[in-house]
Amino acid sequence: MTLRELAEYFHRLEQTTSRLEMADILRDLLERAEGEEVDKVVYLTLGELMPPFRGVEFGISEKLAIEALSKACGVKVKTIEGLYKERGDLGEIAQELIKWQGRSLSLLKVYQELLDIALTRGTLDKVMRLINLLKGLSGFEAKYAIRIIVGKLRLGVGDATIIDALSLLAGYKDLKQTIERAYNLCSDIGLVAKKLKEGGISALEDFKIQVGYPIRMALAERVSSAEEIIKKLGRCALEVKYDGFRLQVHKEDQKVEIYSRNLERMTEMFPDIVKGILEDLSFKYVILEGEALAINEETGEFYPFQITIQRKRKYGIEEYSKEYPLKLFCFDLLYLEGEDYTVKPFIERRRKLEEVLRKTNTLKLSEMIITDQVKEVENFFEEAITRGLEGIMAKRLDAPYTAGSRNFNWIKLKRSYKGSLADTIDVVILGYYYGKGARSKLGIGGVLVGVYDPQRDTFKTVSKVGSGFTEEEWIKLKKLLDEIKLEHKHARVDSLISADVWVEPRYVITVRSDEITRSPLHTAGRTIEEPGYALRFPRAVSFIREDKAPEDANTVEEIKRLYELQRKVSIE
Ligand code: ATP
Repeated sequence: MTLRELAEYFHRLEQTTSRLEMADILRDLLERAEGEEVDKVVYLTLGELMPPFRGVEFGISEKLAIEALSKACGVKVKTIEGLYKERGDLGEIAQELIKWQGRSLSLLKVYQELLDIALTRGTLDKVMRLINLLKGLSGFEAKYAIRIIVGKLRLGVGDATIIDALSLLAGYKDLKQTIERAYNLCSDIGLVAKKLKEGGISALEDFKIQVGYPIRMALAERVSSAEEIIKKLGRCALEVKYDGFRLQVHKEDQKVEIYSRNLERMTEMFPDIVKGILEDLSFKYVILEGEALAINEETGEFYPFQITIQRKRKYGIEEYSKEYPLKLFCFDLLYLEGEDYTVKPFIERRRKLEEVLRKTNTLKLSEMIITDQVKEVENFFEEAITRGLEGIMAKRLDAPYTAGSRNFNWIKLKRSYKGSLADTIDVVILGYYYGKGARSKLGIGGVLVGVYDPQRDTFKTVSKVGSGFTEEEWIKLKKLLDEIKLEHKHARVDSLISADVWVEPRYVITVRSDEITRSPLHTAGRTIEEPGYALRFPRAVSFIREDKAPEDANTVEEIKRLYELQRKVSIE
């Protein structure tokens, strides 16, 4: 396959706003790609070079890309900057400025070039390589190459769209589960595509966990009382709910990798935990999960989250890790010495985890009891709250680790659920409004937000949010949103109301709201017979949640359940 052919598919994808059509185009594309090309095709279509957990970045700012383009085309930097101010799309500008035919390069060659650019250390070398590459591309090809390099391809394709296309390719709808399972075990949709192309569906049926490929995390449902926990699970395990960083740790020999809740590679941020793992674990292959937080060694008490969170920084990590070393409270074992533990019942995983962590220092076992008594759940919960913890987690004893899914195998009971809608909601920003009155000078007065619908892989609106941010935050937000603004509504956004400016669904914010109400204006939970759900008096309580991808926002289903919960509480 040549880059030109791939670019033609990109062009077709850009023209459509229908998800079904998108999946069809992608199916064609994946069919066309050879086995050795297909993973690269997938990454490039997503605007990446590798799965995000590898942490490979181009390290080329728009400014540098403009410099390269200027050198390649012999057009002044100032001129290109002027064009960029006007249009905001370097890809389009590249297409216009490049007059030569290009060398009709193969996709594999261009991919390798792009990877070399990303892996080259010095800025000057990067730019030189980019100039060289641009000289070999036609304007049409350069348009997409540049967009990928500056991180703005934005075809509206996500991992879930690729999964749909792969199941079309595999031929039967029921194969989707097999594809999803493989994806949940490795978080690398390119790898899944490659296996499917090369080995057919049976290669995916045999798909195995590998150290170094994060397993998509199991998530918890929520309830509002101890009683419901026992009703749902019967005899179950209770653990305290630690408020720190959820980490998935991978160890192979002396090599350790750490992934965040969002499956980002975070190894460098936790040198103390890496060291602790190497000291505490004598096994060769291990994957386990836990929550990392700072504790006061003198008193054994947890430091507040504000102290733990300080670890999220670029500089000074070493000093911080000395001042506030973290402990990892381990709560699950997923893989040990070549054996897949995710398929085993919770209680078996737990027993093994207890064995694995017998003599450890940095790694600690999460506190756990087993009970079938409502009273005991209540006591455990009250005690956790008294100790300043957020709540408790209940776990079904015979459940496997359900990678990539949120269900009642794990249940969280948090303090805030008791009472009206005291819990916060994570929503995705879908667009913004220019704002009136005092805000109009900022150019932004509110955002349109939505929740995730995993069945359709779309974002459905629940509210407009116009308060909770400081003036500085609004300014910062506008700047970030302008970088991802779109000409029209994104293909994955389902909305009845329009925004002044549509953006790519990328940023998650946490909001608090007094109540969830029914509203015909919003699409979350809306059916032919019933109106949607809306947040009443929403206000932002966080700036952008970097630990959450848009698909990690709350779902339509959860909003529905919160609505039910709130009704139940008010009736009681
Ligand atoms: P979620 O991770 O479910 O999307 P969230 O980020 O808003 O939601 P919470 O609702 O507070 O987090 O609760 C779930 C999180 O609790 C887990 O992702 C994990 O990080 C954390 N956690 C703390 N203690 C435990 C435990 N003992 N077992 C499992 N998870 C725990």
